[in-house]
Amino acid sequence: MMTKDNPGFATLAVHAGAQPDPTTKARITPIYQTTAYVFDNADHAAALFGLQAFGNIYTRIMNPTNAVLEERVAALEGGTAALAASSGHAAQLLVFHTLMSPGDNFIAARRLYGGTINQFGNAFKSFDWNVRWFDPADPASLETLVDDRTKAVFVESLANPNGTFVDIAAIADLAHKHGLPLIVDNTMATPYLVRPLEHGADIVIHSLTKFMGGHGNSMAGILVDGGTFDWSKSGKYPMLSEPRPEYGGLVLHQTFGNIAFAIAARVLGLRDFGPTLAPLNAFLILTGMETLPLRMQRHCENSLGVAKWLKDHPKVAWVNYAGLDSDPNHALQVRYSPKGAGAVFTFGLKDGYEAGKNFVENLKLFSHLANIGDTRSLVIHPASTTHRQLSPEQQVAAGAGPDVVRLSVGIEDLSDIIADLEQALEQA
Ligand SMILES: *Cc1c(COP(=O)(O)O)cnc(C)c1O
Repeated sequence: MMTKDNPGFATLAVHAGAQPDPTTKARITPIYQTTAYVFDNADHAAALFGLQAFGNIYTRIMNPTNAVLEERVAALEGGTAALAASSGHAAQLLVFHTLMSPGDNFIAARRLYGGTINQFGNAFKSFDWNVRWFDPADPASLETLVDDRTKAVFVESLANPNGTFVDIAAIADLAHKHGLPLIVDNTMATPYLVRPLEHGADIVIHSLTKFMGGHGNSMAGILVDGGTFDWSKSGKYPMLSEPRPEYGGLVLHQTFGNIAFAIAARVLGLRDFGPTLAPLNAFLILTGMETLPLRMQRHCENSLGVAKWLKDHPKVAWVNYAGLDSDPNHALQVRYSPKGAGAVFTFGLKDGYEAGKNFVENLKLFSHLANIGDTRSLVIHPASTTHRQLSPEQQVAAGAGPDVVRLSVGIEDLSDIIADLEQALEQA
């Protein structure tokens, strides 16, 4: 049990939200593999359904294993509450459903995970939620895109696929100047490296599938409520500031204060769309998160070693790793992520597309697949896979042009990782 008021990050990663099971004394959080929960009596049931009491009703809406995960991630990010979902994309859907009405728009960084570019640019159109892209390297450029139907700004703290940091504080200031919340996808950095809420972000989202779970064995996502944004001030967020007929006229922001966003996403979004996290997956992610600080440290050390080695290789045209002193993004890395530059980055081969393909196919220790943040070293050619659906211009803008190879450096021995890269480069 934690004895200090302000436990450190590594202590929180192991303990936050959890305690021995009061009934069985099981030390590890059990997988509560149940659909529903028995009510004390009819009044208790009514109070739960009316949101007058907190408690479990039905696993689509909440589950005790998931609740430990939610509390732990909220603690690691410094938020007030969190809501787990079946994937990172599901968490994003729940965030925007809470903020947007048909005809509204939001402003998103152009450099994002390819799947997110698809979700925002294509799927969200069905709801008439409209994305406007800006260049995160030029924060002021977002201002020209704001109008009275703009509801939020969205960035990745460390952008996928090319590992560039964004100036979160500058972007948060501009968003707030226009009365908008800043949503930060912190998947690639994890709160071990970057804590966006401390730099002015209002909501953090994660694909827990990646470094947070860390072992490539389960899908999960989460949103974290920063608890600081005033959802009532502008009248632009009716789901939070207007009476809800299905809850007897309850006004969520008034009733739940600094956890209102997480509550709204749960009782109006998760309840009705249903992208619930399976408690088994929550258990696997919780187990993985216990070693998050150790893994991230090793991921970062190995990545810097690999980036330095690649930079000096005669067949390598360029390396994009913010951890290198010479990298144009290095100053932002030092400011926002002093413990390291993460483990996902890109580089280009002098001989272009064919050499890149050849290189990827000749790697042995590295797995060629569409994922990041595993203990294993992973590699992909984004232009032909994750970023394939984008136009050539969008690919280049997203840092995923035809010559680009993306690595997710694992936690194996650095000498083995480099030996594999060396033999594959020789053949490329
Ligand atoms: C993978 C990923 C997502 C989507 O998460 P899923 O769990 O795959 O749905 C979102 N953002 C980033 C940065 C990602 O890497």
